[in-house]
Amino acid sequence: MLRSMLLGAAGNDRLRHVVTRAPLSREVVRRFVAGDTVSGALTQARKLHEAGHLLSFDYLGAPAVDRVSGAEEVQRLRDLLGALATEGLAEGSEISLSVLEAGLLIDRAAALENAGEVCRAAAEVGAFVTLEMQTHQQVDRTLAIVRTLRERFPQTGIALQSYLHRTEGDIAGVLQPGSRVRLVKGTHEEPESVAYESRHEIDLSFVRCLNLLMSGDGLPVIGTHDPRLVAIAKERAAWHGRSRSDFEFQMVYGVAPGLARSLVEAGYQVRVRVPYGEQWYGYFMRRMAERPANLLTFARAIARA
Ligand SMILES: Cc1cc2nc3c(=O)[nH]c(=O)nc-3n(C[C@H](O)[C@H](O)[C@H](O)COP(=O)(O)OP(=O)(O)OC[C@H]3O[C@@H](n4cnc5c(N)ncnc54)[C@H](O)[C@@H]3O)c2cc1C
Repeated sequence: MLRSMLLGAAGNDRLRHVVTRAPLSREVVRRFVAGDTVSGALTQARKLHEAGHLLSFDYLGAPAVDRVSGAEEVQRLRDLLGALATEGLAEGSEISLSVLEAGLLIDRAAALENAGEVCRAAAEVGAFVTLEMQTHQQVDRTLAIVRTLRERFPQTGIALQSYLHRTEGDIAGVLQPGSRVRLVKGTHEEPESVAYESRHEIDLSFVRCLNLLMSGDGLPVIGTHDPRLVAIAKERAAWHGRSRSDFEFQMVYGVAPGLARSLVEAGYQVRVRVPYGEQWYGYFMRRMAERPANLLTFARAIARA
């Protein structure tokens, strides 16, 4: 209920005005958003890199609605990749890309062309792309796009959500040698006709999917901050004979930094997804909605503003 209200508030213009302007709420925002610009993202990325984390970048854009906005999205990511190369941070870095931002609302061909451009620019500097997963209506089209991209860029990753009933069945189709599959619980509001509702069922599905990934050919990427699932992933990887470099954990900037640090210290690969960009408001509200404790901090900052 509270979560739905907050997700609804993401579209409220007055609240958007307060959150984006008030200096105190900006402090809370800074915990979850690395910056408005590439240079803000790079400042935080450098610190994470020095602390032994791998990097993923998430430009917080809006869905491309025409050819011009699709081309602008590609250019922004080219600029990011250029800056990463200059900083010596491009090699092995990940670019997270949404098919909507790539142009799926225009048509599938535009999304494929734009995503292909980003994959090519990434490959030129030693980086790679992972496609984010949006709502269940986009799963088939996103899977089709990743399959086509992998013909030229086999390392291209895909995110799959354990809350969807279909995900266990989707895994076999995306496991290829060297290809990355990022397993997450899922963050959108989905109907019970397509998604598990209870945390317990979502977690059980996560573990079933985890087993399929760990026993398969691709590179499993475990995108969670849930310490119980992190422990299960470690155990399952060992059981399937995977070394610590044969899979990776991924976490979001500002969430569970202590857990990320302890995994790095124990020799695991941990990639942190660094979100940046001017359109950070919707992203920030989703992070707030994920955890009741965030709401309290956020509400206090708004009240003081
Ligand atoms: C790298 C990465 C990529 C992702 N990509 C996608 C995607 O493509 N599509 C998609 O639908 N979802 C994506 N997600 C989001 C994901 O689906 C979950 O919504 C999110 O990760 C929270 O779930 P959790 O597994 O951490 O478990 P939870 O049970 O939600 O959280 C476990 C613990 O982590 C901490 N925590 C979690 N979230 C927060 C927060 N916002 N603030 C503070 N503490 C928190 C808390 O301590 C909590 O108890 C991604 C997540 C990650 C880490």
